[in-house]
Amino acid sequence: MATKYIFITGGVTSSLGKGIICASLGRLLVARGLRVTIQKLDPYINVDPGTMNPYEHGEVYVTDDGAETDLDLGHYERFLGIRTSQQNNVTTGRVYYDVITKERHGEYLGKTVQVIPHITDEIKSHVLNLGESENFDVVIVEVGGTVGDIESLPYIEAMRQLRYEVGRKNTLSIHLTLVPYLAAAGELKTKPTQHSVKTLSESGMSPDLLVCRSEYQLDESIRKKIALFCNVEYEDVVASLDAESIYEVPLLMQAEGLDSRVIDKLNLPAKNADLKKWKGFVDKIKNPSHEISIALVGKYVEHHDAYKSIAEALIHGGAMNDTRVNIKWIQSDFITADNVEQRLGQVSSILVAPGFGGRGIGGKLAAVKFARENGIPFFGICLGMQCAVIEFARNCAGLENANSTEFDDKCKYPVIDFMPDQRKIENKGGTMRLGKYDCKLTGGTKAIAAYGQEMIDERHRHRFEVNNEWREKLFDNGLMIAGVNPERDLVEIIEIEDHPWFVGVQFHPELKSTVNEPHPLFVSFVEAALAKSQGKSVTSEESKEAVS
Ligand code: GLN
Repeated sequence: MATKYIFITGGVTSSLGKGIICASLGRLLVARGLRVTIQKLDPYINVDPGTMNPYEHGEVYVTDDGAETDLDLGHYERFLGIRTSQQNNVTTGRVYYDVITKERHGEYLGKTVQVIPHITDEIKSHVLNLGESENFDVVIVEVGGTVGDIESLPYIEAMRQLRYEVGRKNTLSIHLTLVPYLAAAGELKTKPTQHSVKTLSESGMSPDLLVCRSEYQLDESIRKKIALFCNVEYEDVVASLDAESIYEVPLLMQAEGLDSRVIDKLNLPAKNADLKKWKGFVDKIKNPSHEISIALVGKYVEHHDAYKSIAEALIHGGAMNDTRVNIKWIQSDFITADNVEQRLGQVSSILVAPGFGGRGIGGKLAAVKFARENGIPFFGICLGMQCAVIEFARNCAGLENANSTEFDDKCKYPVIDFMPDQRKIENKGGTMRLGKYDCKLTGGTKAIAAYGQEMIDERHRHRFEVNNEWREKLFDNGLMIAGVNPERDLVEIIEIEDHPWFVGVQFHPELKSTVNEPHPLFVSFVEAALAKSQGKSVTSEESKEAVS
């Protein structure tokens, strides 16, 4: 079967949740036995979001192959249970970079290089290459931005051309729009949707299906009106009402018949949807038996999107423990040794978040110390793990003012440092350890109990490492090395033995947690937090049973 391409554009306003609609449609098609992937086209000039501030862009999502990508790819992986790669995220910056590189190499044979056809050809080849890479049944292409934006135009033009090149019957155009409720008029308004569809149509891309975000149910007359003015059939107006949880959206979309319409229109060979497991998951997150609070200590906490995957992984880990996890967002800048108890005393566990730069480090170290000394379950991720090592070095191994050279490059005890082989790479500009690396777990640790196997792989995004020169000193004072990268002998996981649950990981486990496969460390962490809130403690054996 030829690969089918579904183009999803958005109109009226940004933040309509296009990524969630794409991921939900993808989930429904996967549940019907189809092989699906999703690609995000981002109209900004940055080559990737790797250099963008988290306030600008939210989390940078890292794939197995080490690509720094848009956080929507996280939704795709979590909803579909697939693995994405660099191919799943294309930006205008990358497209232009590649076209200009080809031009410099003389590949355009002296022609004038233009938006049409050269930029649009480059966009089309990204879309088609992904479809062909694994012979997918369906590629959902999410076009970032809002219809009418100048920067989206080359993408819409490329989609328009593709519809003819791969055949109208192999493509579908879905437009996501807003049907606002005007309180003064007491009614839902269709005009913004009409205008949005008109703008899209002016670019030659008329929609086959409309997904209408709305606070209220669309009645028959509204649907008829939208269908009439927007040139679609009545059944092709799909309502998407606000949901309590993003994980409900696939079920709501199924009830609205989105997947059935797509399957009919693309003539896809699909079986009945199997969503039993998904429904069980949604039920668990909506009606859990327990409730706990976890402090997430970080420096971008005003902007929750900066920690998107962590928040989702906690929901997944919570569902496995029949527990609602309430995140208490704690700004690390404001924590001090004096107020740490007042700020963190009420929570049943503490997670110190990833990050870059020295701001808020004092607060993070105070949070680690508080968790360590008071037997509060602690999870340190990337920078959070590095803080745990620094705190341990200073307060348990007698290494006064130990630090990371990221914050103090002249410190006497650089327990976190650039590795010598990285210094050489620095000159070439590629200093980050990015993407998937192996890790061998140590017997008898919380980590191996959680994973239930010795060899694992996880994704990384950092420059600094635990300094092997100080490893023995830390170990001798009681810091367990619970996981090591075998190729480069780098510390990947640390633990403290006589503590209910104290685990620091150099990698980002949150990136691999999905609805169908919640991450074992998050499951184990929530379990320990729940036990703490109930005044119990869990043994490694118990936590192994909980996962299996
Ligand atoms: N800033 C630290 C490093 O580069 C940690 C990075 C992170 O938390 N992702 O090593």
